This record gives sequence, C-alpha cells and structure tokens, in this order.
Amino acid sequence: MCGIVGYIGDREALPVLINGLKRLEYRGYDSAGVALLRNQIDVYKCKGKVSDLERFMGDAPHSGNIGMGHTRWATHGEPNDVNAHPHTSYNGKFVIIHNGIIENYARLRERLKERGVHFKSETDTEVLCNLIGYIYENSEVDAEMAVRLALSKVVGAYGLVVMCVDEPDKLIAARKGSPLVIGVGNEEYFLASDATPIVEYTKSVIYLNDGDVAIIRKEQLILKTSAQDVAVPKVQQLTFDIGEIDKGGYEHFMLKEIFEQPQSIEDTFRGRVRADELELHLGGLYEVLPQLVEAKRIVIIGCGTSWHAGLVGEYLFEDLARIPVEVEYASEFRYRNPIIHKDDIVIAISQSGETADTLAAIKLAKEKGALVLGICNVVGSSIPRETDAGVYTHAGPEIGVASTKAFTCQVTVLAMMAILIGKKKGVLSTERYHDLIKEFIKVPAKTQRILALADHIKKIASLYQNVTNALYLGRGYLFPVALEGALKLKEISYIHAEGYPAAEMKHGPIALIDDKMPVVVVATKDSSYEKIVSNIQEVKARSGIVIAVVTEGDTVIRDMADHVIEIPEAENVYATLLSVVPLQLLSYYIAVMRGCNVDQPRNLAKSVTVE
Ligand code: GLU
Repeated sequence: MCGIVGYIGDREALPVLINGLKRLEYRGYDSAGVALLRNQIDVYKCKGKVSDLERFMGDAPHSGNIGMGHTRWATHGEPNDVNAHPHTSYNGKFVIIHNGIIENYARLRERLKERGVHFKSETDTEVLCNLIGYIYENSEVDAEMAVRLALSKVVGAYGLVVMCVDEPDKLIAARKGSPLVIGVGNEEYFLASDATPIVEYTKSVIYLNDGDVAIIRKEQLILKTSAQDVAVPKVQQLTFDIGEIDKGGYEHFMLKEIFEQPQSIEDTFRGRVRADELELHLGGLYEVLPQLVEAKRIVIIGCGTSWHAGLVGEYLFEDLARIPVEVEYASEFRYRNPIIHKDDIVIAISQSGETADTLAAIKLAKEKGALVLGICNVVGSSIPRETDAGVYTHAGPEIGVASTKAFTCQVTVLAMMAILIGKKKGVLSTERYHDLIKEFIKVPAKTQRILALADHIKKIASLYQNVTNALYLGRGYLFPVALEGALKLKEISYIHAEGYPAAEMKHGPIALIDDKMPVVVVATKDSSYEKIVSNIQEVKARSGIVIAVVTEGDTVIRDMADHVIEIPEAENVYATLLSVVPLQLLSYYIAVMRGCNVDQPRNLAKSVTVE
C-alpha cells in the first residue's frame, strides 16, 4: 500500500515528486504530502488525492532539489491532514515517509512519551520518526546510525525515506517487507515504491532487498545490507516504456487494461507457446520440472483476484496434470500451522509480487521445505526473489486497482504449466497436447471478438446500474469466473454481489432471488451445460433476471434468459479466459454509470503490502 517517491539531483524536486505521486496514486489515496529540502525542510500535506495536494500548495514557487512524497493508505489513524505523511520528528530534525506497519508502535510511543516526547498524529509512522529523532538527540550518532538504531527496535514492515536537516545532502532509504526501487540517473537518483514514476527518467534501477539501507547523495549511492556491509548495487534495466503506463486515450486505466488483454495474453505466450512446432517452453521452470512432474500435491496461495486465478489453477492441474491441488488464502495459510510436506509444490500468485500475506506464506512454506514457485507480474519484485523458481506474467503495468489483465495472464500461465506438466507426466497424449496448444493460440483473437461486444454490454449495464444486489453463478471451471465477476462488481461499483457454484444456489442464495436482482450466469457449452440450463430455469421460475454469458449460437439459453452475451466457442480449459472479459466490462460500465471512481475505488489499494 501507499506510494513513496524521492528525488535528489539538480532538477526541481517538486514536479518529479508530484508526477511520481500521480503514477503511484493507485497504491493509496487517502492523503498526500511532500517534503522539500533546501536550507530547511518544508512539508506540505493534506487529506485527499494528489490533485488536492496540488491545490493546497497553490501556485507559489516551492523549490528544492531534494525531496520526497507520499500517497497514503491509512492503517493507523484516520485519513486526515495531521496523519498524512511526511511526518516530522518532535525536535524538527527528521522528516519521514513510510509504507508499512510498525507493529510495536504502541509500546514505543508510551516509552517515548514517558521521556517527554510529544506526538501530533495517531500514526505508527510518527512513532518511528520520533524514535529516530530521540536517538539522534540523545546519542553521539549521525543520521544514518540513528535510523539504523531505531529500525533495530521496531517490529513490522517498512519501506521508508528519511531526510535530516543537519545532513541536507542526502536521502536515507530503508526497506523491510515493503518495496523500494532506486532509479539511477546522471548525478541524480530517483526513489519509488515501484518503477512507474522512474521509467520516464531512467531505465536503470536497483531493487532494494529486505534489510538494505541506502544513503543517497546526488553523486553517490551507498548501499548497506542489514549486517552493515557495503553491498555492490545490482543495476537492472526496466523493460517497459512510459507509454505503457499512460491511459492511451481510454477514459480509465481499467478500460485500457481490459482492452489490452489480447495483447497481454500474446505477450505472456511470447517465447513460450511455440505455434510452429506446437510446443510449450517455460524457461523459468526448466530446472524444477522434474519435481513438478513428481509432485504429489500442489498448494496454490494468493489473495483476491489472484486467489480466483488459483482456483482456476486447481481445475487445470487436476484436469490436465492429475495432481491434487489445494487453494489457500495466503492470510489464512500463514497463521494456521498448515501441513506442508517436502515434496509439496507451493505456487504463490500475486500481480505486484509484493502482497504481504503471500510473501509471509512463502516464507512459511520454504521453512517447511516445500519447493515454492511464483507467478507474478512485476519483474524484480519481492516474490520472484523469494521463490525458488517461477513464471512471470507479461501483462505489462497494471494501474487500475481492480485487476483485469493480470487475472487473464495468471490463468494463461497456470494453463501453460498444467499442459506442460500433463504432457511430461504422460497424462496428456501428444495429440491432445497439440490440440490444446492449437486452441490456446486462438484465445487472443477470440478475446478481441468479445471486446467488440462492449456496446452491447454497456446497454445491459445501463439497465442494471441502480440495483443493490447481484448473484453470479458458474459451474466447474466457470465457478471461479463467477467469483471473479462478483468481485469486480463489488470492488468498483459498491454493489453487493456474490459468486456461487450454480448448483449451490438451491442451498441458500435462491431465497434472495426476486424480480429486482440480476443473476449473471456463466453458461458456455461444457460438460455441465445441461445442468446450468436447469439452474437458469430455476431462477426464471422465481422471476429472477438472467444475464447469461453463452457460447455463440446458443439458442436454448437465448430463449430463456433476459439478456445473453455470446462469446466464441472454446473448450473448458480456455472458457475461463474468455468468459471473464464480458464480466469485467459489465462491472466497468455499471460503475462508470454510477459515477464511481473506477481506477481508484474507495478503501482499496492496488498492492496490499500490509497484512
Ligand atoms: N502505517 C502508516 C500509516 O498508517 C503507513 C501506511 C501506508 O503504507 O500508507 O500512516
């Protein structure tokens, strides 16, 4: 959560910071603030978005070549002006921005209060800032050591940047559990929670590791590990361009990202799905493939949409590779003493690669000796670095808070893995393997055809924009799609929606059905088609409104349902990838018509880096 930016160099820092905060705003948007260092440190902050901060700062010149900025996603203390970051220490010596949670803040705060330290905000961050200030004032140490000593006393997670008035030539950055990237320019450095604010200035970046502390001067970067050893920074090159993080003419990032799916699936295929030889190659799994083939069990962990992709993975691995699968919420898995054997394979799924609960679950699985794989989108993020091996989705930067293209690319990767393992295990015949690849290759073009239905879906959305509840039903592979469709609607339109396996409807949700509640049924032609037709009839018999996603040319459901959205024919394995697209569009249009902020839905943040 929260976005951090920093700058040190010869440019005016403020435009770099404001620009960067706008790019990071998807991470949190309760409040925003900046601090600029010239002869003194000036802090400007307020509740609201970056645009509110700009209004608050007005047109007066604010100069400084060193500075930092923050968009908050509150964990401790309500979103208001005082709790906004940056925070200044009680003695005015230090200013800090922080992403994460200081878990032992209450005890530290009491101790500092006993020593006469005064607090202005309710945040855990101010406790850390005051602790640094107190250590600095009461020991013979420099700013860096004060930061280090303070960090040795805190329990929790942080990505932070600190400035000290007495040492106005540097930024001090530290990371444990929350991401930080340093952009390397020519006698200038950029700092951010992810690379999106950096890429327009430089493509050379350094990802900090947990425990790292960076002392950044205009002309010099010193990186130290937790053991205080000076480390040689590993400079990597960003592989995306600034154009990929703009809206590209679309009204919202979410719409752009929905429409990018044919391309992002193609990108995820690239070099892996070989159309000419009908082969699959997953370089990231090459070394662990023998273990995957022998796996007795796969445990998939994730949160939110990634968890839904994991559920699709369960069907895929069981169906195509005949490996038993369990899908776990990372937040539950990590706290319930799970039974993990050394020959289990754990697959962690996360778009950002920074999801705090998923990271903690990975650590636990590794402790128990399992082979841990990652499926992530952000290259160089924490999860790919923590896992034994993995496969990147090449969805490109996903800015819309409600995940769309990341989901389809995650499912694409899971399908590639399941097919490859199934083939290597001998579960899939060569003929079936080739047929699956042939069908797979058609998915991007079929997705494109679904996107052409946007106006039709928009019309349906206009009829249901004012409903208060919705039910989503699907069976088999399409049950996780129903869950994902319901989640999309909840997230961005604030309409209560539930996803259910269609047959479960009779065990409860059927009681909710009336002539006001739309029931969205994902009912493409598969082995349980007849069953879901019966479920639709059950809904209609209770005057329910049915919006059905069906296979092109399906006249049976067309005659029963109130609305149909016809999508290209595809076998089960790929129906998930196709049928989720109309549901993304439906929720998008409903949310826009309700006047909701689609890209920044209330209370949500893109990358959940706190547990
Ligand atoms: N825990 C801090 C706060 O509540 C930082 C939250 C964040 O990551 O934005 O202010």
